[in-house]
Amino acid sequence: MSSAGISSSADVVVIGGGLIGTSISWRLQQADINVVVVVGERSAAASGVAAGMLAPITETTFTEQRLLQLNLASLSRYADFVAELELASDLPTGLRRTPNLSVAYDADDAARLDTFADFLARAGHPGEQLTSTECRRHEPLLAPTIRSGLLVAGDWSCDNRLLWQALIEAAHRTGVQDRFGFVHRVTSANGRVTGVELADGQTINAGSVVVANGAWARQIGGLPDLPVRPVKGQIIRLDPGRMPAPSLTIRAYSRGSEIYLVPREGGREVVLGATVEELGFDHRVTAGAVYELLRDGRTVLPMITEYALAETSVGWRPGTPDNAPILGRCDLDGLVLATGHYRNGVLLTPVTADVISHLIITGELDSIATPFTLDRFALTGERTR
Ligand SMILES: Cc1cc2nc3c(=O)[nH]c(=O)nc-3n(C[C@H](O)[C@H](O)[C@H](O)COP(=O)(O)OP(=O)(O)OC[C@H]3O[C@@H](n4cnc5c(N)ncnc54)[C@H](O)[C@@H]3O)c2cc1C
Repeated sequence: MSSAGISSSADVVVIGGGLIGTSISWRLQQADINVVVVVGERSAAASGVAAGMLAPITETTFTEQRLLQLNLASLSRYADFVAELELASDLPTGLRRTPNLSVAYDADDAARLDTFADFLARAGHPGEQLTSTECRRHEPLLAPTIRSGLLVAGDWSCDNRLLWQALIEAAHRTGVQDRFGFVHRVTSANGRVTGVELADGQTINAGSVVVANGAWARQIGGLPDLPVRPVKGQIIRLDPGRMPAPSLTIRAYSRGSEIYLVPREGGREVVLGATVEELGFDHRVTAGAVYELLRDGRTVLPMITEYALAETSVGWRPGTPDNAPILGRCDLDGLVLATGHYRNGVLLTPVTADVISHLIITGELDSIATPFTLDRFALTGERTR
């Protein structure tokens, strides 16, 4: 039987059930706003693939000063966010407040790390520069051939899969309804959102619609042109079993390549990532990527060759022209954007949930988010395809 023509309603429809959509829906429903989340395909979400680094400082680049402020604001909310979430869901999130250690393998890598350390110090976020011996004192499993390191105390990590499960549970307990399927288009009349139409023809009427479907934002009809593209990442999960696991998150420059190793609490998993590939929605795990990640990982932490290869996976970061998210309203009344979180969506979950729910409840966009509205791209012409 066709389901076309079947209609329901909610105060707010959230498109996408990843970390961003789920956290927004939880916050809204806490304020007694009736939310339906059209979840799409959770197994395809970047939220379940990510490494879980909460590392605004270690992850920053020379051109992302504005984004750094937003990332730091989100990290400053993390401890309270996680405490509230764990209480609301009765589930753990795997938050780890251990420092991040960046290391360099050869002379060129060391020069690169020095330049980065210098940049961080000038930006007011100095790390502690370490010799090879000092690096190994902090993380004894590192290869003795490591040349130098940079310890950043304020950068943390979490288990993004646990975090996401906890958010789904908390959202359900608060009353959020999941709708399985995909939004085909956002409906509107007279410049105002009226709801969404699903791929199976059903409709949901709503006064507000939140676009939170990550890398797929551009695939929905009825939206303004959103400069969001999928950036493929291949990543590996290792199971140390009875072997010792690192205790710190390690980011490494290794012969010009960059990798990271993110351990989970109790050493039950080490995540090794990741490639950054402009290949659209290519879903293949390639032999070359797995080889290079393992090769570079082993150079830095030889012990990984003893770990079990538990999982290889692919995810798509929602990339934007300036690597920062798109938050807030646009020309269509009632449409709210929360996409484009690129490589920081786990980190940016608390601040995004707060800012977007506050916007829907009060009509006000928090000043922390005003640099990240869609209209910033109108100035640079980035929205022109
Ligand atoms: C390899 C890799 C490593 C990463 N590491 C980190 C990290 O260490 N730290 C960090 O902060 N970030 C990291 N990220 C980035 C982070 O994963 C993303 O920014 C974040 O998960 C985006 O969350 P989201 O909810 O916006 O999108 P997603 O998690 O991708 O969820 C979007 C959901 O929307 C659904 N959907 C799509 N189309 C529709 C539709 N039409 N209707 C309804 N639903 C739809 C999809 O099926 C999907 O389930 C990493 C990403 C990758 C790929």
